[in-house]
Amino acid sequence: MSQIYQYCPRCAAPLATRPHGGFERRACEREGCGFIFWDNPTPVVAAVVEHEGQLLLARNVAWPAGTYALITGFLERNEIPHEAAQREVEEELGLKPRGAHFIGHYSFERMNQLIIAYHVPAEGVVTLNEELAEWKHVPFGEADYWPAATGLALRDWLRSRGFEPKERPFRRAT
Ligand SMILES: [Zn+2]
Repeated sequence: MSQIYQYCPRCAAPLATRPHGGFERRACEREGCGFIFWDNPTPVVAAVVEHEGQLLLARNVAWPAGTYALITGFLERNEIPHEAAQREVEEELGLKPRGAHFIGHYSFERMNQLIIAYHVPAEGVVTLNEELAEWKHVPFGEADYWPAATGLALRDWLRSRGFEPKERPFRRAT
């Protein structure tokens, strides 16, 4: 469970862990407050980007060299997920997205995120924004996947195209 709240954000009393509705939750013990830290997962969109007939993977500036993954991002308020996936591709890669096709949703437990994954074909010249350090093309038949949420989305999309990617060791990328 996430440890974001030690104290009640409403009344500053210490929070306690207790069973609630079938889950262990952090809740305020103070009489009359009633704050409960629900710790719900955060939705995150992920894009399997198809560019010039290949897969396009990118490395976040915070990741070690050689770590490439999908394009991901948070939803803006009231934003629809398939639009968010295309917006992220446009913002982070400078490409023109040509639609977003739902792949599936995946639980990323370590980050308490729900990954909503799309295939996003995109056109244009890659221009990375400040979030990304580098990018590469990977032929579909040479792609492998990492056994975590976005990697499983990539695997499932490749399988839907008739490829059987190999699993590679997980290296902190989402
Ligand atoms: Zn409280």
